[in-house]
Amino acid sequence: MDENNPVVILDGETWHIAENGRSSKIAHCGKKMTNQRTHSRVSTIGVAHVCKNCVRRYLEDFPNAFPQP
Ligand SMILES: [Zn+2]
Repeated sequence: MDENNPVVILDGETWHIAENGRSSKIAHCGKKMTNQRTHSRVSTIGVAHVCKNCVRRYLEDFPNAFPQP
């Protein structure tokens, strides 16, 4: 996977980071995803639109992954 541009899943109304793409059942923030609608990439939708908890935890692992919101 591209560490600087991870896959995001639209679950309900919220975009979450999901390392394993559409096969992920748990978002990076720990939320169980039960209503996956589509997927994209962080750079495509913009980091400002991604779940804040996912972004914070992702930046702990990859501090330079994307500009902090
Ligand atoms: Zn999340």
